[in-house]
Formats: sequence, C-alpha cells, structure tokens
Amino acid sequence: MTVAFDVAVIGAGAAGMMAASVAGQRGRSVVLIDHAKKLGEKIRISGGGRCNFTNMGTTPHNFVSQNPNFCRSALAAYTPNDFLRLVQSYGISWHEKHKGQLFCDDSSESIIQLLRQECLKGGVTWRMPCAIQSIQKTEDGYTLATDQGVIRCQQLVIATGGMALPQVGASDFALQVARQFGLKVIEPRPALVPLTFDGQLWQDFVALSGVSAEVELGVALKPKKKMVFLEDLLFTHRGLSGPGILQISSYWNPSERLHINFAPELDLHHTLLEAKRTSKQQLGNYLSTLLPKRLVEPWLSATGVALDVLQKRLADLPDKTLLQVATALHDWQLVPTGTAGYKKAEVMRGGVDTRDLNQKTMASRAHPNLYFIGESVDVTGWLGGYNFQWAWASGVACGQAV
Ligand SMILES: Cc1cc2nc3c(=O)[nH]c(=O)nc-3n(C[C@H](O)[C@H](O)[C@H](O)COP(=O)(O)OP(=O)(O)OC[C@H]3O[C@@H](n4cnc5c(N)ncnc54)[C@H](O)[C@@H]3O)c2cc1C
Repeated sequence: MTVAFDVAVIGAGAAGMMAASVAGQRGRSVVLIDHAKKLGEKIRISGGGRCNFTNMGTTPHNFVSQNPNFCRSALAAYTPNDFLRLVQSYGISWHEKHKGQLFCDDSSESIIQLLRQECLKGGVTWRMPCAIQSIQKTEDGYTLATDQGVIRCQQLVIATGGMALPQVGASDFALQVARQFGLKVIEPRPALVPLTFDGQLWQDFVALSGVSAEVELGVALKPKKKMVFLEDLLFTHRGLSGPGILQISSYWNPSERLHINFAPELDLHHTLLEAKRTSKQQLGNYLSTLLPKRLVEPWLSATGVALDVLQKRLADLPDKTLLQVATALHDWQLVPTGTAGYKKAEVMRGGVDTRDLNQKTMASRAHPNLYFIGESVDVTGWLGGYNFQWAWASGVACGQAV
C-alpha cells in the first residue's frame, strides 16, 4: 500500500513534533514517523522528569557549532518567550530554577501532551512505532519504504536527534541520511557528559566520591582562547561529573588538558600570605574555612602535598610552600582519559554540517526538499534548557518552510 503526503517528518521528538504541528496547522498534509513505542521519551526524562523546556537567556553564544552564526536566524524568529506563551496557553505551571532555566512544576508529560495536542490541531497523521527501511529520491520528492508500507512525500524532514542515550531509542539515522545524500557530517561526540580517568591514576581521588564544590573549569580553545564555566563539580568513582563538567565536556577534545580552579573568587597566594601574618591556624584548618572541608585534605594529599605540611601552622611555613599550595588549588591541571560515552551523555555534539543547510529553513542546499532539524545538526546547546529551545526554534523554522 502506498500513501502520499505533502510532508513526512521522521522522528517524533521535540523538534519533529514542533515542525509537524506547525506545517500541519499551515494546511500541509503531514505524516510523523517514529520507531519508538513510547512517545517523547527524552522529553519525559529531561530535567529530572520536569523538563527544563527553555532558557530565557538564550543567545547564539550558548551553542557549540563549527558554524556559530547558523543558529541566529531561527533562534531570533522563535524565542524562549514564544515557547513560554505556548506553555502558558495550555495552563502548564512552571518555575525558574537557576539562571533563566524554566521547568514544569509538575511533570514533563505536560510538554509531551502539549506537542501531541498541537499535532492534533494540525491534523498530523502518526506512524508509530514504524521503522524506515530505505529512502529514495524521486522526481517530485521522496519515497520511504517502511515496515508499514510505502510512504511518498514531497518534502522530507529528518528529526531523529542525536546518539545520546541509545537505551531510549537514539540512533545515528540522521547522519546516515545526511551521508546518503552527500551532506557533510561534523564528527559526532558525546557531550554534556561526565569525564573519566584511568582507574589506576584515579585511585587516589576515589575517597573524594560524592564531594562537590563550585569551581571554575576551563579548556583551551584554539587559537589562544579559553572556554570557562563557573559551576559545580562532583567527584565520582570513575572521574568528574556535575553541571560544570557536563558544560565543559562539550568543548573538551581527547588528550586535551582541563584546568580547575577551586577558589576562583580568591587570590589564594595573597590570602595565605596575609593569614600567615595574622592567623595561628594550621594550614589544613585554615584552608577548610575557604574550601569544602571534605575536599581539602584528601585532594591536597592526592596531588602530592605532604600531610605534615597541612598540619603545620601557617606561620611556620615558607612562602614558597604557600605559593605551591595556592597554585595547585588555583590551577589543577589534568587530562581526562575519555567521556562516560553516549549511554550517559545528555546530547551529541557535531552532526549534520550546517554549512550544507539554509539557516532560515533548515533545508539542504543541495536537496531543497530535504530538511534536518534539532539535535541532528551541528548545533549543541549548553546545559540549562538551550537544547530544547534549539529543537523548538529549528522545528518552527522548518515547519513554516515546508
Ligand atoms: C537525560 C536527558 C535529559 C535532558 N534534559 C534536558 C533538559 O532538561 N533541557 C534541554 O533543553 N535539553 C535536555 N536534554 C536534551 C534534549 O532532550 C534533546 O536535545 C532534545 O530532545 C533533542 O530534540 P530532537 O527532537 O532533535 O531529538 P529527540 O527528542 O531525541 O527525538 C528524536 C526522535 O527520533 C526518533 N528516532 C531516532 N532514530 C530513529 C529512526 N531510525 N527511525 C525513526 N525514528 C527515530 C526517536 O525515537 C525520537 O523520538 C536532555 C537529554 C537527556 C538524554
């Protein structure tokens, strides 16, 4: 059996449902296809079950891409306020948690229902679960062979996301389609992901598991630029996690050095020399007034500062030793072995090269009836609601164009 639609959208996630609903509400006949049994799994588990659905401070600066200006147009045309208005029109209650991050008060399920309802308003036809077996270009569009028969469409939208969390149905489908049609792909990598270290080398830090601290994290960017985040870091059995590490992981490349400043607000060298004159405390006790208590002793001893130094009174320590301690705490340098991989990552970075896409419509330059949206393209948001804002904005841009 062959059925025909104006538009076929593959991937009923955040971007796909948005694009399908917008196109449907414009009067296009739309089919939305997904291989999953359950709708919107990533939305459901997002934001700890409360979906951090946007970030009010969204700017192009909050995205990682080889083509940093690409996202500008779509983000400007559909803003966090636009999505917030949609959320409010459904009576969904929400709250701001941290730095512009908006979450549902109750559950992510309400965002899934909102999108489902918007698709219903657009008369979208669903095929789910439905596996795509092949895609062929025809004279007037595309033919999809699926396990539910053949689907023909004039325009084809790929919204199958990235590879993060294969356990909930993520796949590299978008990258396969891009390659099939000759679009370039920026090497995909797990992002917003914990960083891991060689088991033997990490042994000394295992005792710190569960310790968290607000730190400044940095990696060097070429040429002569540094990316820095001021966020929490968490020690784990295998390495480092927490919001700060997830953020910096999107900029870190294998074999690169990570810089961690445990006291970004202080000039520790100056502070310690001052304390040497005025305080009678031991170095370890004094440092515990400035930094998390559970961190100081195990961390300094793991990094080679002798325990008896910590037990000495500040006044009895040479300036040189205080400088060494201050430098160690201000710039801990370490090279992660790798990341915890796609199974633990929140997103994939890299993806379809945006230089092959139109920034206003998300259409392929070489194949104007083929579109890529959402996480499948090389636009990766920071932690904090930016990835959903990109999914909504790129979905709307495409839904208005198809
Ligand atoms: C644990 C976790 C928490 C997150 N929390 C947040 C958050 O709070 N805020 C935020 O902004 N971002 C968050 N993200 C990121 C966000 O979920 C994604 O960036 C966003 O869902 C991407 O939207 P998308 O539509 O491009 O892809 P997805 O939402 O992943 O949708 C892709 C769809 O395509 C389908 N699909 C995949 N392969 C195929 C195939 N071969 N055939 C047919 N269908 C296919 C999938 O089943 C899925 O339904 C989180 C991610 C994770 C993993």
